Amino acid sequence: MPNYDVIVIGSGCAGLAAAARIAKSNKKVLVLEKHNIPGGCGTSFRRGRFEFEVALHQLSQMGSAENPGGLRKLFREYGIEEQIDWVEIKDLYNIIQPSADINLSLPTDVEQAKKTMSKQFPKEKENIIQYYDLVWSFCKEYFELIQKPETPEGEGFGYEMKKMVTGKLFGKKYPYLAKYMMRSTQEVLNEIGLSKEAQACVNVYWSFMGMPPEKLPFAILAACTYLYILNKPYYLKGGSQVMSQALTEFIRKNGGTVRFNCGAKRILLEGNKAVGVITDTDETIKAAKIISNISPIHTYVNLLEPQQVPESTLEYLSNCKVGTSAFSCFIGLDCPPEEIGLTTSFNLMYPKAVSHDGVEAIKKLTVEDDPLVVTCYTVDDPEVSPKGTSIVSAVALKYAEPWIQLAPEQYYETKYKVAEQLINRINDQFPGFKDHIEELEVATPLTHMRYLNHPGGAIYGFEQDLNATGFFFPAESKIENLEFASGWARLCGFGPNYMYGNKIANKVLGEA
Ligand SMILES: Cc1cc2nc3c(=O)[nH]c(=O)nc-3n(C[C@H](O)[C@H](O)[C@H](O)COP(=O)(O)OP(=O)(O)OC[C@H]3O[C@@H](n4cnc5c(N)ncnc54)[C@H](O)[C@@H]3O)c2cc1C
Repeated sequence: MPNYDVIVIGSGCAGLAAAARIAKSNKKVLVLEKHNIPGGCGTSFRRGRFEFEVALHQLSQMGSAENPGGLRKLFREYGIEEQIDWVEIKDLYNIIQPSADINLSLPTDVEQAKKTMSKQFPKEKENIIQYYDLVWSFCKEYFELIQKPETPEGEGFGYEMKKMVTGKLFGKKYPYLAKYMMRSTQEVLNEIGLSKEAQACVNVYWSFMGMPPEKLPFAILAACTYLYILNKPYYLKGGSQVMSQALTEFIRKNGGTVRFNCGAKRILLEGNKAVGVITDTDETIKAAKIISNISPIHTYVNLLEPQQVPESTLEYLSNCKVGTSAFSCFIGLDCPPEEIGLTTSFNLMYPKAVSHDGVEAIKKLTVEDDPLVVTCYTVDDPEVSPKGTSIVSAVALKYAEPWIQLAPEQYYETKYKVAEQLINRINDQFPGFKDHIEELEVATPLTHMRYLNHPGGAIYGFEQDLNATGFFFPAESKIENLEFASGWARLCGFGPNYMYGNKIANKVLGEA
C-alpha cells in the first residue's frame, strides 16, 4: 500500500500549487522540500532591518477583484486571495536608455501605452499602433487556442499546433498565429519597421527571459506584453514568501503534509514505474504518483540510477539548452526612493551603448554591458521596509559557466567587484544612490545552483528560443507515474507556474 497518493518533490510555485489542488481533492499528498522554508525562488530573507524578496518583481495574471485573471481565480479557489494584500503596480515598466537620453515610463493601458510611445517617437506613431494592434490580435487567437481542452477527436492546443505545422485550415482559423507563431521578436519588429530605440522600449521582456530578440519567440514577447497590460502587474505585501506560506498552510489544512529540510535523494522505480521516493535521510516513502517540481535533468540524472533512465530521454532532452541564471544585488537604502530620484518601481536600464547583442554580455562575469532590472519595491509599497528607508533589487541575467570556472578563493572578491560595477551603474543614473546603501547582499549563479539544485542555477528553466523549447517543452515524462511541474516544463514565472502546477495536479487526479 502506498503511503501517499502523490509525492511532490520541491515546494516551488508549481510544486505548491499542485499539492494544494491534490489536498483539496481529499487525496493524501506529501511535499518534500530540501530547504527550510517553502517557495523555491518565491522566498525572502532578512538582513539587518530589511526583508529582501528573492525573485518576484512583477506578478502576472492577477487581474483586479472585479476582473480577475487566471491566477487570482486560482487563488480564489484555494481561498487564499483574501488572505493577501495585493499591490497593483502603477507602471508597466520604466525604460532607461542612456545612449538615446530616454527615460520613459509606460502606463498599464494599451491605448495610453500607444500614446506615450508615440509622444516619445512621433515619427513612428503608425508603426507603434501597428505593433500594439498586432500584439492584441495575436494574443486573442493564442489565448483562445490554449484554453481549448484537448479532446480525443482533436481540437485543443496540441492538436491545433500539429495542424499548424501540417495543415492549411489552421491559417484560416488563426491567421495571426499561423503567420507569427514561429517567428522571432526581431523579425517581427523589423517587419513593422520600428527604430532601434523604439524597439528597445517595446521588446524589454527579452532581457528578462535571457533570449536576445533574434531568438526570443515573438509569441513570448506578445504574451508578456498582453498579459501584464490586461491583468496589470502586481506585487503583494510581505513578498512572494507570503504566497508560498499561504499555499503551505492551505495544503496542511486540507490534510496534506509538507516537510522541510527533507530532500528527495532517489525516486524508487518498479520496472519503468515510479512507486516512491527515498529521502536524503534514507527514509522510503511509497506513493502512487510522483510530481517533480525540479528540472528534468536533475530528476533523471540525480534521482535515478543511470541504468534506469530510458534511452529516449537523452534524445528528448538533447534539443534543450539550460537557460540563464542571475546575478542579483539586494540593497537596503537609508533614505526614501524619491531622495535619489527613484520614482518608478520597475526599471529596465540599458548600458551606455545600447547593443541588442546582450547575449554576449550575459556570458561574461561583468555587468558593464548588460541590461539591468532595477526594482524599487518601496515606490509602490512604502511599508515594505522601515519608514524612511527603501528596498532595491537589481538583477542582471548571467550564465553560470564563468562563475563555475572561478577558483574558490576568487569567488568572494569577484562577487563584490561585480556588485560594485552594478551599483556604480545605478549610481550614474541615480546620483547619491551609493552613499545611502545600508545593507547589501549578493547572489550569483552559484547561489541559485545551491539553493534550487537547478543545473547552471537557471532561473527560467530551459532556454526558450524558437528551435528548442517555447512551444516544444520537454514536459512529458519518460517514466510512468512521474510528472513534471516546474518552470522547466512550461513557460517560467510565478503566474504560469502556479497555473501549470494546478493543471498537472488535475491530470494526475484524473489518472489516480
Ligand atoms: C532573480 C529572479 C527574478 C525573477 N523575477 C520574476 C518576476 O518578476 N516575475 C515572475 O513571474 N517570475 C520571476 N522569476 C521566475 C520565478 O521565480 C520562477 O519561474 C518560479 O518561481 C519557478 O517556480 P518552480 O515551480 O519552477 O520552482 P523553483 O522556484 O525552481 O523551486 C524548486 C524547489 O525545489 C526544491 N528542490 C530542489 N531539489 C530538491 C530535492 N532533491 N528534494 C526536494 N526539494 C528539492 C528547491 O529547494 C526549490 O524549493 C524570477 C526568478 C529569479 C530567480
